[in-house]
Amino acid sequence: MELDYVYPLYRPPSEANSLIFQVTLGCSFNQCSYCDMYRSKTYSERTWEEIKMEIDITSKSYPNTKRIFLADGDAINLSTERLVQILEYAYKKFPALERVSSYAMPMNLLQKTDSELMTLRSAGLKMLYVGIESGSNIILKKITKGATYNTIVQSCKKAKENNYVLSSMIILGLGGKKYTSEHIEETAKIISEVSPDYLGALNLHLADGLHNEFMTKFKEPFEFLNDMQILNELELLVRGINSSSPIIFRANHASNVYSIKGTLPYDKLRILELITQLKQHPDMLKPKVLRRF
Ligand code: SF4
Repeated sequence: MELDYVYPLYRPPSEANSLIFQVTLGCSFNQCSYCDMYRSKTYSERTWEEIKMEIDITSKSYPNTKRIFLADGDAINLSTERLVQILEYAYKKFPALERVSSYAMPMNLLQKTDSELMTLRSAGLKMLYVGIESGSNIILKKITKGATYNTIVQSCKKAKENNYVLSSMIILGLGGKKYTSEHIEETAKIISEVSPDYLGALNLHLADGLHNEFMTKFKEPFEFLNDMQILNELELLVRGINSSSPIIFRANHASNVYSIKGTLPYDKLRILELITQLKQHPDMLKPKVLRRF
């Protein structure tokens, strides 16, 4: 049985096999200049009756569900009471359930107290996806991220201290040519400080309808990076990350120029060698038509 989703519907690539419940619609912030995922939606919260009904129906169709992803853009914005209600009911109705996860915005993570985050973790919310995008305060301001280096570090550390698996994303090319050094230096620094369990490095890809807004908010001319410059950023990023714990690193998103993965720091040299090889053989890169966000 298919759920009656309100499209568009997004989930991280690693949730491809998860059952998705839209417990909220849209994004409570919806202002990041590079993101058009929920521009067609006004943020709202599904009622308990709607959510319960979907859990009831799907638990009959997919009784062996092991993973659930709570959509849309920021389910953590729900009250802790409502989230606990959803989590407890989901674990009750899906006996094989092992993991529930959701996206989480830094500012909304910070609004939850440690005690609330602990309660949610105990109720079975286990993994959070946090978009870091850049460690540079200059760039975070220009892309209207609604977060700073410090608030991102605080929120990610809060999640890790409360025992969540933390998956984060950064965007290569986000500072354009002018801020490329600033972007990568600060991003390597923030990733080293936060030490997420997973890190995805995406490529900047602006949807057609976002160009004007992105450029206007950037407040100065923006020059996109070419493939070689993106590979340079990737190389410097991988080189610059020195984390206190292993990071499962992926640059294999549909937007990337090539599929690169490994665990840092163990695979650092192998990844750097691959990047060097790609720079010498640009014919190995994914054709532009096959890249999308
Ligand atoms: S990047 Fe995340 S927080 Fe920003 S508008 Fe998109 S969904 Fe919302």
